[in-house]
Amino acid sequence: MAGNSLHVVVVGAGVLGASTAWHLARQGARVTVLEREAGLAQGVTGHSYGWVGTASRLPSADPERFSLEQQALAEYARLGRTLGPLPVAAQGALVWLDSEQETLALLAEQQAAGVRMCAVARERIGELEPALVRAPELALWAPDEFALEPDLLARQLLAAAQAHGARLVVDCEVQALSLRGARICGVRTAEAVITADVVVLANAIGAGKLSAALDMRLPVFEDPAVLLRFDARPVPLRHLLYGQSLELRPGLGAGLVSAADFPGQDRLQALGQACLDEIRRLLHPSLELSLRSLHAVSRPKTVDGLPLRRFLPGVEGLYVNVAHPGVILAPLLGRLASEEILGAYR
Ligand SMILES: Cc1cc2nc3c(=O)[nH]c(=O)nc-3n(C[C@H](O)[C@H](O)[C@H](O)COP(=O)(O)OP(=O)(O)OC[C@H]3O[C@@H](n4cnc5c(N)ncnc54)[C@H](O)[C@@H]3O)c2cc1C
Repeated sequence: MAGNSLHVVVVGAGVLGASTAWHLARQGARVTVLEREAGLAQGVTGHSYGWVGTASRLPSADPERFSLEQQALAEYARLGRTLGPLPVAAQGALVWLDSEQETLALLAEQQAAGVRMCAVARERIGELEPALVRAPELALWAPDEFALEPDLLARQLLAAAQAHGARLVVDCEVQALSLRGARICGVRTAEAVITADVVVLANAIGAGKLSAALDMRLPVFEDPAVLLRFDARPVPLRHLLYGQSLELRPGLGAGLVSAADFPGQDRLQALGQACLDEIRRLLHPSLELSLRSLHAVSRPKTVDGLPLRRFLPGVEGLYVNVAHPGVILAPLLGRLASEEILGAYR
Protein backbone atom coordinates (compact mmCIF):
# COMPACT_ATOMS: atom_id res chain seq x y z
CA MET A 1 0.00 0.00 0.00
CA ALA A 2 1.44 3.36 -0.96
CA GLY A 3 2.25 5.74 1.89
CA ASN A 4 -0.26 8.32 0.74
CA SER A 5 -3.23 5.95 0.98
CA LEU A 6 -2.29 4.34 4.27
CA HIS A 7 -4.67 5.42 7.04
CA VAL A 8 -3.01 5.50 10.45
CA VAL A 9 -4.93 6.17 13.66
CA VAL A 10 -2.68 7.53 16.41
CA VAL A 11 -4.16 7.10 19.88
CA GLY A 12 -3.04 9.91 22.21
CA ALA A 13 -2.12 13.57 21.66
CA GLY A 14 0.84 13.74 24.03
CA VAL A 15 4.34 14.49 22.84
CA LEU A 16 4.94 10.96 21.51
CA GLY A 17 1.63 10.78 19.64
CA ALA A 18 2.19 14.28 18.27
CA SER A 19 5.67 13.48 17.00
CA THR A 20 4.55 10.18 15.48
CA ALA A 21 1.57 11.87 13.80
CA TRP A 22 3.67 14.69 12.37
CA HIS A 23 6.35 12.40 10.98
CA LEU A 24 3.72 10.12 9.40
CA ALA A 25 1.69 12.98 7.94
CA ARG A 26 4.66 14.74 6.37
CA GLN A 27 5.68 11.44 4.77
CA GLY A 28 2.28 11.23 3.10
CA ALA A 29 0.23 8.96 5.38
CA ARG A 30 -3.40 9.80 6.09
CA VAL A 31 -3.37 10.37 9.85
CA THR A 32 -6.13 10.66 12.44
CA VAL A 33 -5.15 11.50 16.03
CA LEU A 34 -7.68 10.56 18.71
CA GLU A 35 -7.39 12.13 22.16
CA ARG A 36 -9.73 11.31 25.05
CA GLU A 37 -9.29 14.65 26.82
CA ALA A 38 -11.02 17.83 25.66
CA GLY A 39 -7.62 19.52 25.16
CA LEU A 40 -4.24 18.54 23.75
CA ALA A 41 -1.20 17.35 25.70
CA GLN A 42 -2.97 17.28 29.05
CA GLY A 43 -1.62 13.87 30.09
CA VAL A 44 1.93 13.34 31.32
CA THR A 45 3.22 15.78 28.70
CA GLY A 46 1.21 18.59 30.29
CA HIS A 47 2.97 18.04 33.63
CA SER A 48 6.49 17.36 32.44
CA TYR A 49 9.67 19.20 33.40
CA GLY A 50 10.85 19.26 29.80
CA TRP A 51 14.59 18.96 30.32
CA VAL A 52 16.16 18.03 27.01
CA GLY A 53 19.60 16.83 28.02
CA THR A 54 21.61 14.26 29.90
CA ALA A 55 23.99 16.37 32.01
CA SER A 56 22.79 15.11 35.38
CA ARG A 57 23.25 11.42 34.62
CA LEU A 58 26.33 9.21 34.74
CA PRO A 59 26.70 7.64 31.28
CA SER A 60 28.08 4.46 32.87
CA ALA A 61 24.88 3.94 34.89
CA ASP A 62 23.05 2.86 31.72
CA PRO A 63 25.24 3.17 28.61
CA GLU A 64 22.59 1.95 26.14
CA ARG A 65 20.02 4.46 27.35
CA PHE A 66 22.59 7.24 27.49
CA SER A 67 23.67 6.69 23.91
CA LEU A 68 20.02 6.54 22.75
CA GLU A 69 19.35 9.87 24.46
CA GLN A 70 22.45 11.40 22.86
CA GLN A 71 21.15 10.26 19.48
CA ALA A 72 17.74 11.75 20.33
CA LEU A 73 19.22 15.13 21.29
CA ALA A 74 20.71 15.47 17.82
CA GLU A 75 17.19 15.15 16.38
CA TYR A 76 16.13 18.38 18.07
CA ALA A 77 18.30 20.42 15.70
CA ARG A 78 16.45 18.81 12.78
CA LEU A 79 13.13 19.53 14.45
CA GLY A 80 14.01 23.19 14.96
CA ARG A 81 15.09 23.55 11.33
CA THR A 82 11.85 22.01 10.06
CA LEU A 83 9.27 23.31 12.52
CA GLY A 84 10.71 26.73 13.30
CA PRO A 85 11.52 28.06 16.78
CA LEU A 86 10.71 25.57 19.55
CA PRO A 87 9.18 26.65 22.90
CA VAL A 88 12.54 26.76 24.69
CA ALA A 89 12.30 28.14 28.24
CA ALA A 90 15.95 27.87 29.29
CA GLN A 91 19.23 27.27 27.50
CA GLY A 92 22.24 25.81 29.35
CA ALA A 93 22.40 23.88 32.64
CA LEU A 94 24.37 24.28 35.84
CA VAL A 95 24.80 20.93 37.59
CA TRP A 96 26.37 20.02 40.91
CA LEU A 97 26.17 16.82 42.95
CA ASP A 98 26.54 16.10 46.67
CA SER A 99 30.34 16.42 46.71
CA GLU A 100 32.94 17.98 44.43
CA GLN A 101 34.39 14.54 43.93
CA GLU A 102 31.08 13.26 42.53
CA THR A 103 30.66 16.37 40.41
CA LEU A 104 34.11 15.92 38.88
CA ALA A 105 33.49 12.20 38.29
CA LEU A 106 30.32 13.16 36.40
CA LEU A 107 32.31 15.68 34.36
CA ALA A 108 34.95 13.11 33.42
CA GLU A 109 32.33 10.63 32.23
CA GLN A 110 30.30 13.20 30.34
CA GLN A 111 33.34 14.56 28.54
CA ALA A 112 34.52 11.05 27.68
CA ALA A 113 31.08 10.44 26.19
CA GLY A 114 31.51 13.53 24.00
CA VAL A 115 29.20 15.91 25.90
CA ARG A 116 30.15 19.61 25.81
CA MET A 117 30.61 20.42 29.49
CA CYS A 118 33.15 22.18 31.70
CA ALA A 119 33.78 22.84 35.39
CA VAL A 120 33.06 26.39 36.60
CA ALA A 121 34.07 27.98 39.91
CA ARG A 122 31.81 30.14 42.10
CA GLU A 123 32.70 33.44 40.46
CA ARG A 124 31.83 32.19 36.98
CA ILE A 125 28.66 30.56 38.33
CA GLY A 126 27.65 33.99 39.63
CA GLU A 127 28.16 35.51 36.17
CA LEU A 128 26.13 32.78 34.51
CA GLU A 129 23.33 32.88 37.09
CA PRO A 130 23.41 36.09 39.12
CA ALA A 131 20.31 35.14 41.11
CA LEU A 132 22.02 32.11 42.61
CA VAL A 133 23.18 33.67 45.86
CA ARG A 134 24.13 30.33 47.45
CA ALA A 135 26.25 29.02 44.62
CA PRO A 136 28.38 25.94 45.21
CA GLU A 137 32.18 26.20 45.04
CA LEU A 138 32.14 24.20 41.84
CA ALA A 139 29.52 23.28 39.27
CA LEU A 140 29.38 21.94 35.73
CA TRP A 141 28.24 24.13 32.87
CA ALA A 142 26.53 22.34 29.99
CA PRO A 143 25.66 24.96 27.36
CA ASP A 144 23.82 22.62 24.97
CA GLU A 145 21.26 21.39 27.49
CA PHE A 146 17.89 23.10 27.36
CA ALA A 147 14.36 22.93 28.69
CA LEU A 148 11.19 23.50 26.74
CA GLU A 149 7.50 23.50 27.48
CA PRO A 150 6.45 19.97 26.44
CA ASP A 151 2.76 20.77 26.00
CA LEU A 152 3.60 23.61 23.62
CA LEU A 153 5.95 21.35 21.68
CA ALA A 154 3.18 18.75 21.33
CA ARG A 155 0.76 21.43 20.11
CA GLN A 156 3.35 22.71 17.63
CA LEU A 157 3.86 19.19 16.26
CA LEU A 158 0.12 18.58 16.03
CA ALA A 159 -0.47 21.88 14.24
CA ALA A 160 2.28 20.96 11.78
CA ALA A 161 0.70 17.51 11.32
CA GLN A 162 -2.64 19.18 10.59
CA ALA A 163 -0.92 21.37 8.01
CA HIS A 164 0.04 18.08 6.32
CA GLY A 165 -3.60 16.95 6.36
CA ALA A 166 -3.79 15.10 9.69
CA ARG A 167 -7.18 15.05 11.40
CA LEU A 168 -7.30 15.71 15.12
CA VAL A 169 -10.27 14.61 17.23
CA VAL A 170 -10.39 15.51 20.93
CA ASP A 171 -12.83 14.33 23.57
CA CYS A 172 -12.70 10.98 21.84
CA GLU A 173 -11.62 8.02 23.93
CA VAL A 174 -10.62 4.83 22.17
CA GLN A 175 -12.51 2.15 24.04
CA ALA A 176 -11.31 -0.90 22.13
CA LEU A 177 -9.26 -2.06 19.18
CA SER A 178 -11.19 -3.58 16.25
CA LEU A 179 -9.83 -6.69 14.56
CA ARG A 180 -10.65 -8.65 11.45
CA GLY A 181 -9.10 -12.01 12.13
CA ALA A 182 -5.53 -11.33 13.24
CA ARG A 183 -5.46 -7.93 11.57
CA ILE A 184 -6.26 -4.51 13.00
CA CYS A 185 -9.10 -2.83 11.13
CA GLY A 186 -9.74 0.21 13.33
CA VAL A 187 -10.69 1.45 16.77
CA ARG A 188 -13.99 1.70 18.61
CA THR A 189 -14.97 4.94 20.34
CA ALA A 190 -18.25 5.77 22.11
CA GLU A 191 -19.61 7.20 18.85
CA ALA A 192 -18.26 5.03 16.07
CA VAL A 193 -15.82 2.53 14.71
CA ILE A 194 -13.04 4.39 12.93
CA THR A 195 -11.39 2.23 10.32
CA ALA A 196 -7.62 2.19 9.96
CA ASP A 197 -4.85 0.22 8.26
CA VAL A 198 -2.51 0.82 11.19
CA VAL A 199 -3.19 1.84 14.78
CA VAL A 200 -0.39 3.43 16.83
CA LEU A 201 -0.80 3.18 20.60
CA ALA A 202 0.88 6.38 21.78
CA ASN A 203 -1.35 6.67 24.81
CA ALA A 204 1.25 5.94 27.49
CA ILE A 205 -0.12 3.67 30.24
CA GLY A 206 -3.41 3.47 28.34
CA ALA A 207 -1.59 1.42 25.67
CA GLY A 208 -1.27 -1.41 28.18
CA LYS A 209 -4.97 -1.25 28.96
CA LEU A 210 -6.13 -1.38 25.32
CA SER A 211 -3.79 -4.24 24.41
CA ALA A 212 -4.70 -6.19 27.56
CA ALA A 213 -8.16 -6.70 26.06
CA LEU A 214 -6.38 -8.65 23.30
CA ASP A 215 -4.58 -10.77 25.89
CA MET A 216 -1.31 -8.90 25.35
CA ARG A 217 0.71 -7.81 28.32
CA LEU A 218 2.91 -4.79 27.57
CA PRO A 219 5.98 -4.34 29.81
CA VAL A 220 4.92 -0.86 30.95
CA PHE A 221 4.29 0.44 34.43
CA GLU A 222 3.42 3.69 36.18
CA ASP A 223 6.06 5.60 38.11
CA PRO A 224 4.80 8.78 39.79
CA ALA A 225 6.72 12.04 39.90
CA VAL A 226 5.73 15.57 40.89
CA LEU A 227 5.73 18.77 38.85
CA LEU A 228 5.68 22.05 40.76
CA ARG A 229 5.05 25.48 39.28
CA PHE A 230 5.79 28.71 41.10
CA ASP A 231 4.88 32.32 40.51
CA ALA A 232 7.99 34.47 40.85
CA ARG A 233 8.42 38.13 40.05
CA PRO A 234 10.61 38.95 38.28
CA VAL A 235 11.60 35.55 36.81
CA PRO A 236 14.94 35.19 38.55
CA LEU A 237 16.59 32.41 36.54
CA ARG A 238 18.16 32.14 33.10
CA HIS A 239 19.25 28.51 33.04
CA LEU A 240 18.44 25.04 34.31
CA LEU A 241 19.74 24.35 37.82
CA TYR A 242 20.35 20.83 39.04
CA GLY A 243 21.64 21.01 42.61
CA GLN A 244 21.92 18.81 45.62
CA SER A 245 18.36 19.21 46.70
CA LEU A 246 16.54 20.98 43.88
CA GLU A 247 15.87 20.82 40.17
CA LEU A 248 14.71 24.21 38.90
CA ARG A 249 14.21 26.13 35.68
CA PRO A 250 12.41 29.23 34.48
CA GLY A 251 9.03 28.76 32.85
CA LEU A 252 8.63 30.14 29.34
CA GLY A 253 8.04 33.82 29.99
CA ALA A 254 6.82 33.41 33.56
CA GLY A 255 7.45 31.71 36.87
CA LEU A 256 9.64 28.81 37.88
CA VAL A 257 9.24 25.07 37.37
CA SER A 258 10.57 22.22 39.47
CA ALA A 259 10.26 18.43 39.44
CA ALA A 260 10.67 15.97 42.27
CA ASP A 261 10.27 12.31 43.15
CA PHE A 262 6.84 11.36 44.48
CA PRO A 263 7.08 11.48 48.28
CA GLY A 264 3.75 9.73 48.99
CA GLN A 265 0.27 11.26 48.94
CA ASP A 266 0.40 12.36 52.58
CA ARG A 267 3.63 14.30 52.05
CA LEU A 268 2.76 16.20 48.87
CA GLN A 269 1.92 19.53 50.51
CA ALA A 270 5.06 19.33 52.65
CA LEU A 271 7.03 18.83 49.44
CA GLY A 272 5.63 22.07 48.06
CA GLN A 273 6.69 23.98 51.16
CA ALA A 274 10.14 22.34 51.21
CA CYS A 275 10.70 23.39 47.59
CA LEU A 276 9.63 26.95 48.33
CA ASP A 277 12.07 27.08 51.26
CA GLU A 278 14.89 25.64 49.17
CA ILE A 279 14.34 28.07 46.29
CA ARG A 280 14.40 31.01 48.72
CA ARG A 281 17.57 29.63 50.30
CA LEU A 282 19.35 29.18 46.96
CA LEU A 283 18.14 32.28 45.18
CA HIS A 284 17.22 34.95 47.69
CA PRO A 285 15.11 34.95 50.88
CA SER A 286 13.26 38.07 49.75
CA LEU A 287 12.21 36.61 46.41
CA GLU A 288 8.50 37.18 45.70
CA LEU A 289 7.50 33.58 45.33
CA SER A 290 4.40 31.39 45.70
CA LEU A 291 3.42 27.84 44.80
CA ARG A 292 1.04 28.01 41.83
CA SER A 293 0.39 24.29 41.32
CA LEU A 294 1.62 20.87 42.26
CA HIS A 295 0.72 17.72 40.31
CA ALA A 296 1.66 14.12 40.98
CA VAL A 297 1.61 12.32 37.64
CA SER A 298 2.41 8.75 36.60
CA ARG A 299 5.24 8.53 34.11
CA PRO A 300 4.89 5.63 31.67
CA LYS A 301 8.03 3.53 32.06
CA THR A 302 9.10 0.29 30.47
CA VAL A 303 10.48 -2.66 32.39
CA ASP A 304 13.89 -2.64 30.65
CA GLY A 305 14.09 1.18 30.59
CA LEU A 306 14.22 1.27 26.80
CA PRO A 307 11.51 2.53 24.43
CA LEU A 308 8.71 0.16 23.53
CA ARG A 309 8.45 1.08 19.87
CA ARG A 310 7.45 -1.68 17.49
CA PHE A 311 4.71 -3.60 15.74
CA LEU A 312 3.12 -5.88 18.30
CA PRO A 313 3.37 -9.55 17.40
CA GLY A 314 0.14 -11.45 16.77
CA VAL A 315 -1.96 -8.53 15.46
CA GLU A 316 -1.02 -7.17 12.06
CA GLY A 317 -1.03 -3.38 11.90
CA LEU A 318 -0.88 -2.70 15.64
CA TYR A 319 2.07 -0.53 16.66
CA VAL A 320 3.10 0.81 20.07
CA ASN A 321 5.20 3.88 20.94
CA VAL A 322 5.70 4.30 24.69
CA ALA A 323 8.93 5.57 26.27
CA HIS A 324 10.58 7.48 29.06
CA PRO A 325 12.00 10.15 29.04
CA GLY A 326 9.46 10.88 26.37
CA VAL A 327 10.23 14.55 25.73
CA ILE A 328 13.89 13.90 24.96
CA LEU A 329 13.04 10.87 22.86
CA ALA A 330 9.94 12.12 21.01
CA PRO A 331 11.60 13.52 17.84
CA LEU A 332 13.70 10.38 17.39
CA LEU A 333 10.97 7.87 18.21
CA GLY A 334 8.40 9.66 16.06
CA ARG A 335 10.74 9.54 13.08
CA LEU A 336 11.71 5.89 13.61
CA ALA A 337 8.10 4.82 14.10
CA SER A 338 7.03 6.61 10.94
CA GLU A 339 9.86 5.05 8.91
CA GLU A 340 9.08 1.57 10.18
CA ILE A 341 5.32 1.84 9.60
CA LEU A 342 5.58 3.34 6.12
CA GLY A 343 8.41 0.96 5.24
CA ALA A 344 6.24 -2.04 6.15
CA TYR A 345 3.41 -0.96 3.82
CA ARG A 346 5.41 0.40 0.90
C1 LIG B 1 7.16 15.45 36.82
C2 LIG B 1 7.68 14.92 35.50
C3 LIG B 1 8.87 15.38 34.99
C4 LIG B 1 9.35 14.88 33.77
N1 LIG B 1 10.49 15.40 33.27
C5 LIG B 1 10.94 14.99 32.05
C6 LIG B 1 12.06 15.61 31.47
O1 LIG B 1 12.66 16.52 32.06
N2 LIG B 1 12.46 15.18 30.24
C7 LIG B 1 11.80 14.17 29.57
O2 LIG B 1 12.21 13.84 28.46
N3 LIG B 1 10.74 13.57 30.12
C8 LIG B 1 10.28 13.95 31.33
N4 LIG B 1 9.17 13.38 31.88
C9 LIG B 1 8.54 12.26 31.15
C10 LIG B 1 7.76 12.76 29.95
O3 LIG B 1 6.96 13.84 30.34
C11 LIG B 1 6.89 11.62 29.41
O4 LIG B 1 7.76 10.55 29.06
C12 LIG B 1 6.12 12.06 28.17
O5 LIG B 1 5.41 13.24 28.39
C13 LIG B 1 5.15 10.96 27.79
O6 LIG B 1 4.45 11.40 26.66
P1 LIG B 1 3.34 10.50 26.01
O7 LIG B 1 2.88 11.18 24.77
O8 LIG B 1 3.83 9.09 25.91
O9 LIG B 1 2.19 10.43 27.14
P2 LIG B 1 1.02 11.46 27.45
O10 LIG B 1 1.50 12.85 27.43
O11 LIG B 1 0.36 11.00 28.71
O12 LIG B 1 0.06 11.30 26.22
C14 LIG B 1 -0.81 10.21 26.09
C15 LIG B 1 -2.18 10.75 25.72
O13 LIG B 1 -3.05 9.65 25.44
C16 LIG B 1 -4.33 10.02 25.88
N5 LIG B 1 -5.09 8.77 26.04
C17 LIG B 1 -4.91 7.79 26.96
N6 LIG B 1 -5.73 6.77 26.73
C18 LIG B 1 -6.48 7.12 25.66
C19 LIG B 1 -7.52 6.47 24.94
N7 LIG B 1 -7.97 5.24 25.30
N8 LIG B 1 -8.08 7.10 23.88
C20 LIG B 1 -7.63 8.33 23.50
N9 LIG B 1 -6.64 8.99 24.14
C21 LIG B 1 -6.07 8.38 25.21
C22 LIG B 1 -4.09 10.77 27.17
O14 LIG B 1 -5.19 11.60 27.50
C23 LIG B 1 -2.84 11.55 26.83
O15 LIG B 1 -3.12 12.85 26.35
C24 LIG B 1 8.63 13.86 33.07
C25 LIG B 1 7.42 13.42 33.58
C26 LIG B 1 6.93 13.93 34.77
C27 LIG B 1 5.59 13.46 35.30
